[in-house]
Amino acid sequence: MRAILVAVSSAASIAHALAPLRSSPESAAILLDVDGTLAPIVERAEEARVSEAMRSLLIELTHRYALIACVSGRRAQEARQMVGIGSIAYVGNHGAELLAPASTQVRILDPALAAARSQVDRFASSLPAAALRRARVRVEEKGPVLALHWRGARDEAAAVALVEELAKRAGAAGLFIHRGRKVLEVRPPVAFDKGRGVRELLAGALPGGEEGERIAVAMYVGDDRTDLDAFGALRELVREGRLEAACCVAVASEEAPEELIEHADLVITSVEEVRALLAGLL
Ligand SMILES: [Mg+2]
Repeated sequence: MRAILVAVSSAASIAHALAPLRSSPESAAILLDVDGTLAPIVERAEEARVSEAMRSLLIELTHRYALIACVSGRRAQEARQMVGIGSIAYVGNHGAELLAPASTQVRILDPALAAARSQVDRFASSLPAAALRRARVRVEEKGPVLALHWRGARDEAAAVALVEELAKRAGAAGLFIHRGRKVLEVRPPVAFDKGRGVRELLAGALPGGEEGERIAVAMYVGDDRTDLDAFGALRELVREGRLEAACCVAVASEEAPEELIEHADLVITSVEEVRALLAGLL
């Protein structure tokens, strides 16, 4: 395993980075990944939990900040169930879905995605079920996305070899591959990611949007490769002059990709430190 050799941000640099958010919460957005950020990573994804302390802190933040949203690889509904707060927005399935606060309707952000789903379904039905079971690779069907998880596999190298072989087949069938923390996703050949999801989420609240200029600064906190797209989206919005400032926070771990840390304004190292960071916003 790779040791964590990253420079963790000091209390002073955290306070400095949070200042623009703290000084005008009425025009600040706080965007949060869920697994590995709000909830510790566990062997079985279905057992992941957001602590009561984290939940009540998030609720307090909703009273003060213009926008609080979770941006997850899970389905939007599942993320809402897990976080347990109905009054915030959820961007689910890596930016493919949007569940607005209090809404029961999940919006698929790109209609082309729904149309391309049958390609993923065909691939799913061709999977070698017995070999996957033997290797302890868990298959999760998440709408247009098929996820292969090997967390907890006894022989990790064998599980990875099998998953990579399937990834090659998926690629040859014209599907897209995305890699995360002990998970490989097979996706339809339609571009979507957390970055696009974040842009869609913020679109109405930025200059020129339907809601007027409600959001001026935004923070994003995440722990994985897919969160880099969200970092990228916030940086782009700043370059375009649509956001005044952005703060990208990496939650470093042995499994976190180096690029995430390289591209972050702040680096912290645990869900507990995310809680402390968010508490600093009150
Ligand atoms: Mg995560």
